[in-house]
Amino acid sequence: MAKRDKLYEGKAKTIFATDNAHQLIQYFKDDATAYNAQKHEVIMGKGVLNNAISYHIMSALGAAGIKHHLIKKIDHREQLIRKCDIIPVEVVVRNIAAGSMVARLAGKHIPIDLGTCLKTPMVEYYLKEDALKDPLITAEHITGFDLASEDELKQMRLTSLAINRILGDLFNGIGITLVDFKLEFGRPSQRQEDDPLLILADEISPDNCRLWDKATGDIKDKDRFRKSMGGLVEAYQDIANRFGITIAAT
Ligand code: UDP
Repeated sequence: MAKRDKLYEGKAKTIFATDNAHQLIQYFKDDATAYNAQKHEVIMGKGVLNNAISYHIMSALGAAGIKHHLIKKIDHREQLIRKCDIIPVEVVVRNIAAGSMVARLAGKHIPIDLGTCLKTPMVEYYLKEDALKDPLITAEHITGFDLASEDELKQMRLTSLAINRILGDLFNGIGITLVDFKLEFGRPSQRQEDDPLLILADEISPDNCRLWDKATGDIKDKDRFRKSMGGLVEAYQDIANRFGITIAAT
């Protein structure tokens, strides 16, 4: 598969065209950003780990019946993916209160704290627009401003909750609590017979999940970077090891 023009450079990944109009290459960089890219560092080895972990997780989701954009892992940095028109909405599923949920809502009426178990998983939507700092939006914003149709929104919500159940079990099996995570969905440029309206896109890695060690409470995700705790590569490597993933040397 020939790699062609760079189409898009994101914070942690770069997207390249290929000689197939319906397939792209997703390249995992070592860059880490937080707080809308105000904090930025290059962390050697992060991209290789995220590529391997995301490949493992997407494959497990695929085996469980979730349709996604991943075609194959090309090498230690790259994946071949299906081209999609990405819905500009980040879907966050939360099992335990953390991060912006606590910062925004904890108080007299909502007496949550970091680590409070939610009665039921909660789905939130954020507009994917860096210039606006990815604001929280409602389901009515999504359909009212034509970001997605009613049917697409319904599918994003139900698929995200299904993914939460599958991922929760997957992480449980390696002694990790899945606190929350972020998903992105897209409309495939070329529909396949068994495609739902939207397929899962982007990546699922410790960059966009909160993962806590069940035994020690140790943080195994990007919060290590956000909070300047150090040990990010070691934490991601630990997740890979627990999944039995072998990482390519280069
Ligand atoms: N998240 C993400 N990308 C974003 C914002 C959030 O991957 O642009 C993930 C984040 O890693 C966490 C979940 O979504 O697992 C919820 O994040 P939160 O809203 O608490 O935001 P943060 O604390 O990162 O500001």
